[in-house]
Amino acid sequence: MNFTIATIPGDGIGPEIIEQAILVLNQIGKKYGLSFSFIKLLAGGCAIDKTGEPLPPETMEKCQNSDSVLLGAVGGLRWDHLGVQQRPEKALLRLRKELNLFANIRPAVLYGALKDASPLRKDIAAAGIDMCIVRELTGGIYFGPRGRKQRNGGEEAYDTEIYRSEEIERISKIAFEISMKRSKKVTSVDKANILESSRLWRSVVTEVAVSYPEIRLEHMYVDNAAMQIIRDPRQFDVILTTNMFGDILSDEASMITGSIGMLPSASLGLTRLGMYEPIHGSAPDIAGQDKANPIAIILSAAMMLRFSFELEKEANVIEKAVAQVLAQSYRTADIMSHRKRLVGTKEMGRLIVEAID
Ligand code: NAD
Repeated sequence: MNFTIATIPGDGIGPEIIEQAILVLNQIGKKYGLSFSFIKLLAGGCAIDKTGEPLPPETMEKCQNSDSVLLGAVGGLRWDHLGVQQRPEKALLRLRKELNLFANIRPAVLYGALKDASPLRKDIAAAGIDMCIVRELTGGIYFGPRGRKQRNGGEEAYDTEIYRSEEIERISKIAFEISMKRSKKVTSVDKANILESSRLWRSVVTEVAVSYPEIRLEHMYVDNAAMQIIRDPRQFDVILTTNMFGDILSDEASMITGSIGMLPSASLGLTRLGMYEPIHGSAPDIAGQDKANPIAIILSAAMMLRFSFELEKEANVIEKAVAQVLAQSYRTADIMSHRKRLVGTKEMGRLIVEAID
C-alpha cells in the first residue's frame, strides 16, 4: 500500500518535530510493508516570507490531492504585526474550511509514567485520564456574522453563533462512531439553559443518538463541564461539543495531562483526507535548540494511520512505543522530572523509532 502524505513543517519547532514523525512513519512502513511518500509544502510564516501569502495555491492544491496532511505548527512574533487575513494562522483556518474538515478530534490521555507531570491533585491523577474531545470545527461563532459599529457615541461589536441541524448531525455521527470503538459513553456539552443554538444542538444530538442504542448519552452545560474535567476527569470518555466550547475545553483537558507537547489532534471531514497536527503552536522560544517534544506530532501521525488509512494495528504500535519510551524514564525538557533521563528532540524520536523496531 502506498500513501501520499502532504507535510507542512511550518514555523518555529515545526520542521524539527515533523522530521521525527517522518522517521517514525518510515519505520512503520519498513516493518509492515507500507510505503509513504512525503510532499513537503509551504504554509504559515515561512510561506509569507517566500511567496507573500500564508497559504500558496500550490499548497492547497497538493493537500487536496494527497491522502492526508501532516502539519507541524505555524506562526511567530515576526508575523504578529500583520492583519488577520495575512497572518500565518490564516493558513490553518483556510485549510480546515476548504478541505471541509468539520470535526476536530483531540484525545487527552495521561500516561501512567507521567502522572507526576499533571497539575491535578495526586489522587485524581492516579485514577488516570483517557478522554477524547470531538469539536465542531467549521461552524458556530468563529464563522458567523461579525462586526463593529458606532452606537450612541460608543462602539459596539458582535459575533454570532449559528448552527444548522445538518452541521450538528454530521459532527454527532463522528462522535458516536468514535464512541462505538471506545467505552460507548458520549457527553454532549452545550449551554442550552441560555442559548437558542445550544437548544437546537441538544435536540439534534438526542435525535442522532436514537441510531446508536448501545451508547449512553448525557448532556452537560459547559460551565459544569469545565469544572467536572478538573474535579473528576474519569467520568468522561467522548465529549462532543461546539467550535468555541471545544476550543476552550480541549485546552483545559490538555493541561491536566501534563504538557502541551504530548497532545495530538486530527481534523476530519467526510472523505478519508484528514489533517493531523499537534495541538501546540510553533514554540518560538525553543525553536532550533533540539528541545521540542516531538511526541504530540508522532501521536498525530498515529491518528493519521488510524483515521485516514484504517491502520489500527500500526497506530497502536506507535502509541505503545511512546508509552514504552516514557516508561523507560526518557523525557524532553517540558515533561522532565526528578531522576528521569533528559533527551532532546532527535534522541526522543530515535528512541521511539527503536521501540517500534
Ligand atoms: P505554543 O504552543 O507555541 O507555546 C506555548 C509554550 O509551550 C511555550 O513555552 C513553548 O515552548 C511550549 N511548547 C509548545 N510546544 C512544545 C513542544 N512540542 N515541546 C516543548 N515545549 C513546547 O503557544 P504560543 O507561544 O502561544 O504561540 C506561539 C506561536 O504559535 C504563535 O504565533 C501562535 O499564533 C502559534 N500557534 C500556532 C498553532 C498551530 O500552528 N496549530 C497553534 C497555537 C499557536
